[in-house]
Amino acid sequence: MFNPQKATGEWQTLDARHHLHSFTDPTLIESEGSRIIVRAEGSTVWDNDGREILDCMAGLWCVNIGYGRRELSDAAAAQMALLPYYNNHFQSASPPMIELAARLAGLTPDTINHFAFANSGSEANDAIARLARQFWQLQGRVTKRTIISRTMAYHGSTVMGSALGGMPHMHAMDGGVSNEVVHIAHPHWYLYGEGLSRDEFGLKAARALEDKILELGAENVCAFIGEPVQGAGGVIDPPSTYWPEIQRICKQYDILLIADEVICGFGRTGSWFGSQTLGIQPDFMPMAKGLSSGYLPVAAVGIHDRVYNVLADGGHLAHGYTYSGHPVACAVALANIDIIENEGLVARVRDDIGPYFMAALDKLVDSSPIVGERRGIGMMAALQLVKNKDTRELPTLTDNASIFCRDYCYNEGLIVRAVGPSIVLSPPLIYTHAEVDQTVDILGRALDATAKKLGV
Ligand SMILES: *Cc1c(COP(=O)(O)O)cnc(C)c1O
Repeated sequence: MFNPQKATGEWQTLDARHHLHSFTDPTLIESEGSRIIVRAEGSTVWDNDGREILDCMAGLWCVNIGYGRRELSDAAAAQMALLPYYNNHFQSASPPMIELAARLAGLTPDTINHFAFANSGSEANDAIARLARQFWQLQGRVTKRTIISRTMAYHGSTVMGSALGGMPHMHAMDGGVSNEVVHIAHPHWYLYGEGLSRDEFGLKAARALEDKILELGAENVCAFIGEPVQGAGGVIDPPSTYWPEIQRICKQYDILLIADEVICGFGRTGSWFGSQTLGIQPDFMPMAKGLSSGYLPVAAVGIHDRVYNVLADGGHLAHGYTYSGHPVACAVALANIDIIENEGLVARVRDDIGPYFMAALDKLVDSSPIVGERRGIGMMAALQLVKNKDTRELPTLTDNASIFCRDYCYNEGLIVRAVGPSIVLSPPLIYTHAEVDQTVDILGRALDATAKKLGV
């Protein structure tokens, strides 16, 4: 077994020498070194020097049940000893994947009863692009190929995932958007809703989908994809009028609706799925992150009966991954779902810690001169940083406000994320009231320091 005990400097040197990080500037790894996290318990992580840090991002939006749950490591060990691997190709299956699919059918909307497996949210969305186009192809409607997404959407980092996403810096990397994906504006009322109530703006933002369909011709449009609440784009919870209108438009023009539940699923919004919180009836539901609370990589795609029936009639399905339905990952996901269920974490988010968290953050909107609005629902939230609350003037890149604020928090023992000019928060669903208080305390001081730096 490898020896995990090394001085931080040694890890950093090795890391800089051999490891290409995700979403990181490699020169920073060389000049400053990476943060070496070595263990975790509950909502707290420890770095290699024994420093304790409160993780208000639940890893990457995924550790819903918190760290260190023995039930999951025990489930992994038992399954690994019994059957460490088998595939689901060529008419094969193993009990954990069957049980997980059945379990998910009980949690998702009644119309969703079949599940395809993958190992990440990106792979789940790749699979959906293939399955959705196949759905139309099998019905002879071969031109229905274009998928409509939104700016600032995040749907993963594979070729298809990044094309579906609406992140300009990711599109730039492979030379622009491709793969027959187009984007409409995301429903960010605070930035784009000038002169409109939230509800009016929600309808207007949704009708951009109708305009785009009419422009492309419905006969060329395969699907619309959206996160119920956009996560990595800055926790953008749409007005309540938005999704019902999107639903109407998809139905009217015969467009498949994909609700990307990779962050919103498994309790984060106060229901099992964001689709339930926001009243969406999707044709495809990709899920990952909270499915195993990040303990092992596993993803699933919920498929509406009407889509499944067409795909099933199409005969041999030319799709799958070596690790689709990996037995150990599925066993861990089942243990994770047990904990969410047995400990009532979904109701806790809806009725207790979620409202407490939001109310605590709302106080920062009142007290800080640089917080324009608080967005979010359940246990995902964002604070919009501004230089002027009246004019909604945003800090510029050179103001470096959100990154300064984030780094201040980290140095004080709190992990938050900077997304453009917003601070984003997504703690484990087991976060305690005391941890919310501690978060808001550190964040309040960080915002004061940021305001001072901005001269506000
Ligand atoms: C994280 C994320 C993905 C991609 O998941 P990976 O496991 O990183 O591939 C897709 N969709 C959404 C909404 C996400 O937040």
